[in-house]
Amino acid sequence: MSEKTFKPRIFSGVQPTGNLHLGNYLGAIRNWVALQAQFDDCIYGIMDLHAITVPQSPESLRNATYEVAASLIACGIDTQKSIMFPQSSVSAHAELAWILGCQTPLGWLNRMTQFKDKAGKQQDKSGLGLYAYPVLMSADVLAYQATHVPVGDDQKQHVELMRDIAGAFNRNYAIDYFPLPEPLIQPTAARIMSLRDGRKKMSKSDDSDYSRINLTDDAETIALKFRKAKSDTIVGISYDVENRPEVANLLQIYSSLGNISLEKTVEQFEHASFSDFKQALSDLAIAQFAPITSEMRKLMQDRAYLDKVLREGAERANAIASEKLKEVKQIVGFFEFLPIP
Ligand code: ATP
Ligand code: MG
Repeated sequence: MSEKTFKPRIFSGVQPTGNLHLGNYLGAIRNWVALQAQFDDCIYGIMDLHAITVPQSPESLRNATYEVAASLIACGIDTQKSIMFPQSSVSAHAELAWILGCQTPLGWLNRMTQFKDKAGKQQDKSGLGLYAYPVLMSADVLAYQATHVPVGDDQKQHVELMRDIAGAFNRNYAIDYFPLPEPLIQPTAARIMSLRDGRKKMSKSDDSDYSRINLTDDAETIALKFRKAKSDTIVGISYDVENRPEVANLLQIYSSLGNISLEKTVEQFEHASFSDFKQALSDLAIAQFAPITSEMRKLMQDRAYLDKVLREGAERANAIASEKLKEVKQIVGFFEFLPIP
């Protein structure tokens, strides 16, 4: 346990691996927006160093960085108050990742389920970056001595590892330098599942666009995707994650989007047909996303503005992280030049 009290600071990020989807929105971004009212100090990164842990075309990566920036603003990230920046523009992330990597036993990394999921049967062919992803993620948060990390449930294991790495650094250098960051996970939308397979999480990187609702989808596409969403042949609608994962996921989405308890949602639809339920669900999603999508489209027309916001964010982020990195380098004992006489 860390003895010191650290100033509360939020850090989280999203990869520019594609458009934001409903899972990102309900599991993370909506929480990021709400946290701005509770914490003075929120930092949100567009994590392009993470994105290249799997192959990316340079053109789509650059474009997705603008798209994610526009989406975050459209969702309600206040870039005057909070810091929003592209990860690769602050070099402290990569540098600190190296230092923390030297504190991380391989045994800890071998337990990480995201690596196993993403590498699949191709582990020997996967890059070191994908394996080291959670070390870089630790550096992202610890470079700001952030105390709280709002993420979806899929990232909980990485935040736990981050706490272990921070603890290992503090122990090895006998200094209470890093806080042990706490995950903040939305209980109602911790893990939104794919619309095609209720046992797989909704992801930007899923091959099928029908597996997810993107924040950029128009009303027609949203309605079509919900209509095509997998359900089952059991009569009536009930919440049973084990036996009816797809239906449970749709109920969860309705409840979370509408801020209605799961019990009330089930009560409302238990006698409805699937088509009526899916219609109600897509109406709800369309109503919530329409203003976000139209704001996002507007912002995407103004790259100069997005560029300015990202540049200012990068400067503010760099001012904090470069100072922390200097301190870490001193702790580690890296060479320091004497002042020029
Ligand atoms: P990728 O498939 O490229 O990893 P992703 O959809 O997992 O993309 P990330 O950028 O990795 O998105 O994650 C951004 C944030 O969204 C993280 O906090 C993550 O935990 C959260 N998140 C991602 N998918 C879901 C989901 N299906 N349900 C809830 N939260 C999610
Ligand atoms: Mg992910």
